[in-house]
Amino acid sequence: MYTVSQLIGGVWGAGGTGGELVVRDPADGSPVSTVPVATADEVGKAVEAARGMAADWAATAPAERAAALHRAADAVEATTEELAAAVTAEMGKPLADARGGVEAGVGTLRQYAELAPLRGGRTLLGGADAIDFMTPQPRGVVAAITPWNDPVAVACGLLGAALVTGNVVLHKPSERTPATGWLLARALDSALPPGVLSLLTGGGEVGAALAAGDVDVVAHVGSTATGRSIAAAAARTGAKALLENGGSDPLVVDAGVDPIWAAEQAALGSFANAGQICVAVERIYVHRDVAEDFADALVRRAEALRTGPGRAPGTELGPLVDRRHRDHVHGQVTAAVADGARVRTGGALPDGPGAFYPATVVTDCRHDMALVREETFGPVAPVVVVDSFSEALRCAADSPYGLAATVLTASMSHAHRAWRELPVGTVKVNAVFGGAPGGAAQPRRASGQGFGYGPELLDEFTATKAVHLQAPGGGHW
Ligand code: NAD
Repeated sequence: MYTVSQLIGGVWGAGGTGGELVVRDPADGSPVSTVPVATADEVGKAVEAARGMAADWAATAPAERAAALHRAADAVEATTEELAAAVTAEMGKPLADARGGVEAGVGTLRQYAELAPLRGGRTLLGGADAIDFMTPQPRGVVAAITPWNDPVAVACGLLGAALVTGNVVLHKPSERTPATGWLLARALDSALPPGVLSLLTGGGEVGAALAAGDVDVVAHVGSTATGRSIAAAAARTGAKALLENGGSDPLVVDAGVDPIWAAEQAALGSFANAGQICVAVERIYVHRDVAEDFADALVRRAEALRTGPGRAPGTELGPLVDRRHRDHVHGQVTAAVADGARVRTGGALPDGPGAFYPATVVTDCRHDMALVREETFGPVAPVVVVDSFSEALRCAADSPYGLAATVLTASMSHAHRAWRELPVGTVKVNAVFGGAPGGAAQPRRASGQGFGYGPELLDEFTATKAVHLQAPGGGHW
């Protein structure tokens, strides 16, 4: 059992008088963590304390900040097993995946430690007597509000980029994974000057208090509804809102591809992390020529997955995060079935403890069903049959979201049409996941705003100052 504590103004165990939350293991319902809840007053005081540290940290040499982040990455790496076990206990992910998330987070911290000191700006010569230069400066106080689905990797990206560019950070991890946030904060704080990083815990109301506070940036990774309320709060205070939100990513399966390979890609995209990935495959548009073989192969893949608690060796499909979320997933599946869709495998609530939901394949779907159009965030693959690549692209583009999309095709011209025409931040050709390390992502519309990853995230946390230098009295320098 983890006993989480807050970090405010460099003091561990501060505050938390707003009550206590208990997190339960989604595999069996047993208690995992007890968590203090911050009051609005404590949030205000934490922001004030952070602001008091901002000038010193901003004035610290970039190479020194980078060295601290390298040491922080070492500390997180040394805590890998403990962090991975906490992730699995709190949100159910298979242990190997949880470990992978910590490793990704450590890699991101190191990348930012390497890149940040090399950043600069443009210089322009206006003539012998005039020089303009531009230089990035820290924005000040950053509120980082993070989700539960990949809690270490996501938090390491935001925290690492914000800290190394000279901002002080208040982190509010998800109320589903607070012990993970606490272990991460302990590791990072061990390598940083006291007060540069704060940890506030509790539910959405703590995030809301933080987003409405005297901060310069609110960086939120989470649902679209929360992102919108944060954007509204930031509009009132003048803070910058950086939002990486929900999605309903399409997978297009073109005519002429191997349906078995396409089904493997679809299964990976739909069922990894029990579908609880922002860029999970949420809807599949398959060409009629390969649709039947594709659906049969996808059903076989779904039925072959090893389901169980995340801590059990070899588990491929763990539980969903909690039963409330399972009800949401199952509700979308049953509504689609009532509207004419056909469950080919899964789709039933299992008996027994925990929040397990089977890998589910639903065929005979239509593009207008909620299961297809909305974010499900569960291990469900809804299949819509289309008659042409153009129809698939049209459906894929027709969404309020704009996170990412994948096309599986052997046609170079179709691949080029896809990246040109799809109104999303990331287009993936012939692989649902992957990409180069350090890859950026810039979501569109309901999926958010600003770069949430990659070297460009360093730019998001700095403001560029333009300086005009003129020789006095019209003379030369
Ligand atoms: P969520 O928005 O409910 O919670 C995320 C964080 O926001 C939590 O810390 C929560 O306490 C806080 N929060 C909740 N209400 C708030 C409010 N009114 N004001 C301020 N903070 C508030 O999201 P979640 O359920 O934890 O995460 C799942 C969602 O995150 C999915 O929609 C998924 O697609 C999205 N996600 C997006 C990305 C991306 O990069 N685009 C990555 C991971 C997850």
